[in-house]
Amino acid sequence: MSPTITLNDLIAVRLNEIAEDAWDQHRVMRLGHGDGRVLEIGSAAAWEQWTCHGEHGDGLCGQPLLTSRQASILLGLRSDDDPIPDPQMAPIEVELLDEGVGCFMPDALFHWSDVVREYRKAK
Ligand SMILES: [Zn+2]
Repeated sequence: MSPTITLNDLIAVRLNEIAEDAWDQHRVMRLGHGDGRVLEIGSAAAWEQWTCHGEHGDGLCGQPLLTSRQASILLGLRSDDDPIPDPQMAPIEVELLDEGVGCFMPDALFHWSDVVREYRKAK
């Protein structure tokens, strides 16, 4: 007998649940692989994986959101320290799949404007 549910199925189901919750609770949308914009800072670049559709008092936001790992890489940080200690926009808490560890971990999504601001500050 082969198992009817594989680990990949479980991961796909969980990713969909997380994406639905994120939309319901925060109006952030997970993008399909390769659907997002390319986000460049200096010589580093990342794919947009999440977009904010929230309203923060100034109409629809529409900004790309970056995971803390993406933000760290774009900012040239090596450690797992908080890449943006003083965000202007509240980071959005979601669970993300850590492919290195192979499990879902609580993470935060940062607005693109905060990543750019942090980059300028560090220069
Ligand atoms: Zn936003």
